[in-house]
Amino acid sequence: MTSRRDFLRNCGTLAGVAGFSYMGLSCNAQNDKQAGSGKGKGMTLRFSPYDLELKHVFTIATSSRKSTPVMLTEIEYDGLTGFGEASMPPYLGESHETVNNFLKLVDLARFSSPFLMEEILDYIEQLAPGNYAAKASVDIALHDLVGKLMNQPWYRIWGLNPEKTPFTSFTIGIDTPEVVREKVAEASPYRILKVKLGQDNDKEMIQTIRSVTDKALCVDVNQGWKERQMALDMIYWLKDQGVVFIEQPMPKSLVEDIAWLTQNSPLPVIADESVQTIMDVKKADGVYSGINIKLMKCGGMRSAFKMINTARALNMKVMIGCMTETSCAISAAAQLSPMVDWADLDGNLLIKNDLFEGVKIADGKIILPDAPGIGVKKL
Ligand SMILES: [Mg+2]
Repeated sequence: MTSRRDFLRNCGTLAGVAGFSYMGLSCNAQNDKQAGSGKGKGMTLRFSPYDLELKHVFTIATSSRKSTPVMLTEIEYDGLTGFGEASMPPYLGESHETVNNFLKLVDLARFSSPFLMEEILDYIEQLAPGNYAAKASVDIALHDLVGKLMNQPWYRIWGLNPEKTPFTSFTIGIDTPEVVREKVAEASPYRILKVKLGQDNDKEMIQTIRSVTDKALCVDVNQGWKERQMALDMIYWLKDQGVVFIEQPMPKSLVEDIAWLTQNSPLPVIADESVQTIMDVKKADGVYSGINIKLMKCGGMRSAFKMINTARALNMKVMIGCMTETSCAISAAAQLSPMVDWADLDGNLLIKNDLFEGVKIADGKIILPDAPGIGVKKL
């Protein structure tokens, strides 16, 4: 359990590194003082910045990085604490500073009970446009808290069968053949590998992997292919290599080209960058075969649940993915995994400094913990 002193120290670290003008104390939302020790009836929101260190430099078609900033949140109520998290990969535009600024606006003291989830999350949604990772950090902590108050995990509250979790894929970033072989060896417990493509060594990446494993592959191009006929030829070649689906093959602006590609593709084509929130799901119908939902893109578990149901109503495939995250946000997303076709929930496995224990992987399959809420324990 992180003490208040640890939490303040973390805030102080951020202030020092990033030169922020706020003091550690402002990391507490305004209602903290009204909740006092946290043993009263009010909800207390706390948050502290943290940096996740990646085991390998992670390269995709558009960027490369070795750490990811996250914000850890806690909502305390009546002696129980719900945990949440915002992850901010730089290309999405959120940062420690933007999430801090958003969370300072949050006043949970206006709500008499955490069970008013719809009202609370509607309020969070309308506080400011965008800021989806920041919103997710409150949404996840609130779900964790309410699950703990009900003493049930969310998959059970939603009526989902924990036996029906999918296999999860393990991500292999773009790299030299030597590092790629090393990463494939690290991925030995997984049955599906997600391969990042979209630079000029796509066939070499796949051939390197195929020289060491015959596991099922899926491919994420991160908008890296620019021409549709070339993309289609690659998809046929990849199908022969045992690839099962293609994620975001072309830039999201090329809607007509992507629709043509999906229509002609022998493999399902899944939207990631093209679909952020529930408003985008309908637009993806007829353009993609399915969507990749991430809590940090859509604002949390409530929104993800609605998106899955919307996609199903449109007869689309559903995948649940993640950013670089601790086991906190990964375990939150995993609660929804019995509803999806594919899961790519490996963000916690790619980091060196996880702070939580939650969902486990056994023989490549997601094992949901029996613990209430999102099922995590702080290390
Ligand atoms: Mg993707």
